[in-house]
Amino acid sequence: MTTPTMPTEAPDGPLTTVFPGPALDPALVTDLEGLGVPVSTDGDERAAQGRDWWPLTIGWIHEGRLPALAGAVVRPRHVNDVSAVMAAASRHHVPVTPQGGRSGVVGGAVPSTGGIALDLTSLNAVLEIDEVSGTVRVQAGCFGPELEQALNARGFTCGHFPQSFELATVGGWLACRGAGQFSNRYGKIEDIVRGLTVVLADGSIVETGGRGPRQAVGPDLTQLFVGAEGTLGVIVEATLVIRALPAHSERATYSFDSVAEGLDACRRIIQRGAFPAVLRLYDVAESQRNFSIDRCALIVLDEGDPALVAVTMGIVAAECAAAVRESDDHVATWLAHRNDVSALGPLWQKGFVVDTIEVAGPWSTLVPIHDAVTSALRALPETLVASVHQSHAYADGACLYFTFVGRPEKDPESYYRAAWDAASRAVLNGGGALSHHHGVGRNRARFVPDALGSGYDVLTRIKSALDPDAVCNPGVLSLGGAPW
Ligand SMILES: Cc1cc2nc3c(=O)[nH]c(=O)nc-3n(C[C@H](O)[C@H](O)[C@H](O)COP(=O)(O)OP(=O)(O)OC[C@H]3O[C@@H](n4cnc5c(N)ncnc54)[C@H](O)[C@@H]3O)c2cc1C
Repeated sequence: MTTPTMPTEAPDGPLTTVFPGPALDPALVTDLEGLGVPVSTDGDERAAQGRDWWPLTIGWIHEGRLPALAGAVVRPRHVNDVSAVMAAASRHHVPVTPQGGRSGVVGGAVPSTGGIALDLTSLNAVLEIDEVSGTVRVQAGCFGPELEQALNARGFTCGHFPQSFELATVGGWLACRGAGQFSNRYGKIEDIVRGLTVVLADGSIVETGGRGPRQAVGPDLTQLFVGAEGTLGVIVEATLVIRALPAHSERATYSFDSVAEGLDACRRIIQRGAFPAVLRLYDVAESQRNFSIDRCALIVLDEGDPALVAVTMGIVAAECAAAVRESDDHVATWLAHRNDVSALGPLWQKGFVVDTIEVAGPWSTLVPIHDAVTSALRALPETLVASVHQSHAYADGACLYFTFVGRPEKDPESYYRAAWDAASRAVLNGGGALSHHHGVGRNRARFVPDALGSGYDVLTRIKSALDPDAVCNPGVLSLGGAPW
């Protein structure tokens, strides 16, 4: 079984806790032990489960500040354990933080309200592969490599390859509404999922979807839980679409004078109906950093049936006819480094404040949003770098993925908050979406009422109906508790 990897270790010596959380009612632990559910109140285990990959918490840990301490760590072995935990937590009014790989970068798996850290990584079985229909049923705690190994052995792939592929679980992909790097071809997780099994706050086990490619029987309940970040229930199983392993792939690299020109080429390619698996455009700073190209690099890769790939790459070449053709070796460079996550921890340890902000918007807004966000970040005196790439494209818009680096003299947290405030305001004012695939977690919760507008009221009513005692990950998504 995969063990979650964390970006930095806590220093030796006494640690303080940023969100200490209230003490856990011992009667709850007794209840769970009575049911035979594996529960631990060991200090080291609670400390280990008190964090995720939220970059701000890397800074805290480096300073000897643990993000949070749950009252207990519970590791369910099967779905009925999850049901027992949720029912007991509701009876005792104790919050539950579902945890997969804890690779989330917005603090959603940090048990900042104490209570139970529900580690789902023991629920990791690949249950059933239907080769004729092209689906797999898998438990939520299964990590990416374990799922792919099982599928590859039968000639299939799920096609969902986030940069955190080795760090994240199926449940986390779904809970955060994630996107893989090849998603233009395979779809985002909401396109890949066909059905779910979810345990609700009261312990009831519900199934959604699972009856083929779609149904017109009321609203899609599966999608209610996709992106809910553990605030509406715990995902325990999923049915996902799988595809035959690709027989063929082609690569190309181009470069443009400006982000605007590159974005326009991406738009034309996609709007002609060509969806190369990878179509990533980098600004000059990121092109220099990643490929030593002093212009805006466009990395293209497609895979699948040779006839489809040839047509797709032909459309790409036609729409990039005015661009500079660069060496296709740059795609190999990208492939070799795309899952390298080693830089983040050391940068924070050296006193830099670093994070990424992925947003989405319609094509007509992307250049203004790009300009507004980079200007807002650069207006902060501590900012050293504000750069961007386009990572996922659609017929009507795309994801812009910003990176900022700052070096505050003191108080990294104030600068961090100011950077997120400035960038998020610029995105929302520009007509963009707050998050494209990392989700909201705790870090972005304060922006949710603005980001959802009148829809926020609908979401809070759904929350009250499904989780009246607010035990499901309170505070995340600005639901059931105060945002950070
Ligand atoms: C270096 C790096 C690169 C990344 N690249 C990408 C990327 O390319 N694409 C992308 O989409 N994301 C990316 N991420 C973000 C992160 O990996 C994803 O959000 C991932 O889907 C989280 O999965 P996890 O299992 O680690 O979830 P966790 O971090 O454990 O949890 C995330 C949230 O989901 C909830 N949750 C987890 N499991 C369940 C469950 N079974 N039921 C209900 N709620 C649950 C948690 O409570 C929390 O709110 C990246 C992260 C890192 C550190």
